[in-house]
Amino acid sequence: MATPRTDQPAAWWRPLANGQVACDLCPIGCRLREGQTGPCATRANRHGVMEPLHYGRIVSAGVDPIEKKPLYHFYPGRSILSVAAPGCNLHCLFCQNWTISQNGDARTTEASPEDLVRKALDEDSVGIAFTYSEPLVWFEFVRDTARLARQAGLKNVLVTNGFLNPEPLAELLPWIDAANVDLKAMDPVFYRKVCKAQLPPVLAAIRQFYDAGVHLEVTNLIIPGHNDTDAQLSELVDFVAELDPRIPLHFSAYRPAWKMDAPATPRETLLRAYELATRKLNWVYLGNVSAEVGRSSVCGGCGEVLVDRGRNRGISRLTASGQCPKCATQQPFKF
Ligand code: SF4
Repeated sequence: MATPRTDQPAAWWRPLANGQVACDLCPIGCRLREGQTGPCATRANRHGVMEPLHYGRIVSAGVDPIEKKPLYHFYPGRSILSVAAPGCNLHCLFCQNWTISQNGDARTTEASPEDLVRKALDEDSVGIAFTYSEPLVWFEFVRDTARLARQAGLKNVLVTNGFLNPEPLAELLPWIDAANVDLKAMDPVFYRKVCKAQLPPVLAAIRQFYDAGVHLEVTNLIIPGHNDTDAQLSELVDFVAELDPRIPLHFSAYRPAWKMDAPATPRETLLRAYELATRKLNWVYLGNVSAEVGRSSVCGGCGEVLVDRGRNRGISRLTASGQCPKCATQQPFKF
């Protein structure tokens, strides 16, 4: 592997008086004193200059079925090289990946953008997914790797909390092919108290992904007693439906983790969410649960199975031009 240049300059920051620096990457808008690290654990003030701490540092890597991201309408059945750095700008009490997202000192290995592109090509991966922790605060490395990956004919995927300022997101979006954005609730109080963040920038980012023509899917982790009432779920479904009822929405079961000890999501709650969402959305899926619905993709016209996900990996039955094999209705899948 090539030795990555880990001394890359940070983007989206400004020097201030007295050796402080301002970060313009995410809506938290940190002002960091000399030696101070941001709460995302990815950026620090070193001698009056913002330093991206994890450029070329990989905390987790694997080749996953693309369905695991989850992306159900983007190259079904293909594998994707999936990578992460430590850190996140949210601090959700229920974080399911807290051992890497909330631990800036997690052990890493080094890799350059060239290394990742070569590995993705060697693995016959459809592209590179920046996932597991929060890729948007790994900004510089994601941008540089995604550019190279695009030149090599690979696809770039973000699995993200969507909590970034619009200007840096606009810089990144031309290199991004698909995204799954985690919409945690439609409740500003939930975002403030449970995630230490704000809801409006996330909604704005979802619209920005959509308007830029990025393939978009949305995930909602349902936590009993926190975001699981019919009213809360309906508000979230309405937001997605108003944007585009063809956007796939994934409801996922929560399990107690990190600082949250609410009980695991009952299967009945996911089925209730599914029933409610399918009244307004064309594509609704259930994750982390065994259920008869919400797994395979079924043609709305004739009921034929389009993508079978009996196991983790999808098996596409779409025609070569993306139509239902039975009734020939054109389907909104990228492949
Ligand atoms: S990216 Fe990190 S350092 Fe920058 S504003 Fe957000 S939390 Fe602060």
